[in-house]
Amino acid sequence: MADLPPGTLRLGLDREALAANWRALDRLSGAAHAGAAVKADAYGLGVGGVMPALTGAGARQFFVAHWGEVPAVLKYAAPDQIAVLHGPLTPQDAAYARAVGVRPVLNSLHQIHLWLESGGGCCHLMVDTGINRLGLAMADIGDPVVGKLDIDILMSHLASADEDSRLNALQLQRFSAVAAAVSARALSLANSAGIVLGKDFAFDLTRPGLSVYGGVPRDELAGAIRQVAFPQAAIIQRRELQAGDTVGYNALFTAPAAMTAGVVSLGYADGYLRCWTGKGALFSDGAILPVLGKVSMDMVVIDLAEAPSLREGDWVDIPFDLAESSAISGLSQYELLTGLGKRFAR
Ligand SMILES: *Cc1c(COP(=O)(O)O)cnc(C)c1O
Repeated sequence: MADLPPGTLRLGLDREALAANWRALDRLSGAAHAGAAVKADAYGLGVGGVMPALTGAGARQFFVAHWGEVPAVLKYAAPDQIAVLHGPLTPQDAAYARAVGVRPVLNSLHQIHLWLESGGGCCHLMVDTGINRLGLAMADIGDPVVGKLDIDILMSHLASADEDSRLNALQLQRFSAVAAAVSARALSLANSAGIVLGKDFAFDLTRPGLSVYGGVPRDELAGAIRQVAFPQAAIIQRRELQAGDTVGYNALFTAPAAMTAGVVSLGYADGYLRCWTGKGALFSDGAILPVLGKVSMDMVVIDLAEAPSLREGDWVDIPFDLAESSAISGLSQYELLTGLGKRFAR
C-alpha cells in the first residue's frame, strides 16, 4: 500500500503555551491543584498532543465526559487520575469503571445505587448547586445511601462563572453547605472562569478546560493565557476573476474589478461555519485575505490582493485568537475549539 500523502489542513499545537497556560491556572488556583478537562478529545485539539504537555507540566487529575473517551486518556494517565463526568448509565459502565480503575462521577441517587450494586469503590460525587444539569439534587444529599460512598472528589459546577452573576456567590454558599454535610477527600468547584472569581472558589482542586487551550472566558485571564492552537489550510487553486464574475453558492460575491482569488481547502465540514460568510478572513504573514462569498462544505474562496505571490500548495493561517474569533463569529470559544474537524492533521 502506498503511503497516504499529507493533507491540506493542519493544526499546529503550541505545547509550550499549553503547558504555560496550565501552570498559570494552577498558580491562580492558589493552594488548590489544577486538574484539566480533556473531554471531547481535549476540546478538539487531540488528546495525543495535549496529554503529554499536561502531564509534563504537572497535571494529575483529568476529566472526560464519556466512557468512550477513557482509553485515549489512559495512554497518558493512571486510571485513578481519570474521572468520567457523565457517570454510569448502565451496569456495564459501572463494571468497566471497576475493572479499569477509572473513577465515575456519580450524579444522581440512581447512579449511586447502580454504583453500589455493582460493588462500589472509590468514586467522585457531583452535587447540583444551581446549574440544573447533571448532579445530585441538594435535597438528596442527606439520603443515607450517600453516606455509604467512598468519595474522593466532591464537586459542583458553576453556571455563570464567566459573568458577574449573583448565582456565583449563591452556588459557592450552597457548595460550602454541601461540603459540611458530605464527607470527601477533596472539594472542587471552579472551572476556568471560576478560578478568577476569588480564592474562596478554589477549594482543593480546580477543573479548567477552556483556558488550558487558549480560551479567555473572563478579562482577568487575558494576560495569563496564550494561544495554543494554530490551524492552517492550503490554497488548492488560484483563479483570475473578471469584473462581474460571481463567487460560490448563490453568487453572493460579485467581483467589482479584475482580481485574483485563492480557493482554500477549508469549509464548514472542518468547523469553519457559514457564519463566517461576509465577515471571515484568512491571513498570510501580515496580509489579510477576506473570504469571498459563501463558505462551502470543503472550500472557501479568498481575495489574494494583499498576498499576490501565494500559489497552490501554500498555507494560509486561520485566525484562532479564541476571544476575538468568538466576538466576530458569534460562536462560543468552546464551539470554535470543539468544532475543528477531523480532517485537520493533529
Ligand atoms: C467542561 C467542564 C469543566 C471545564 O470547564 P471550562 O469552562 O472549559 O473551564 C469543568 N467541570 C465540569 C463538570 C465540566 O463539565
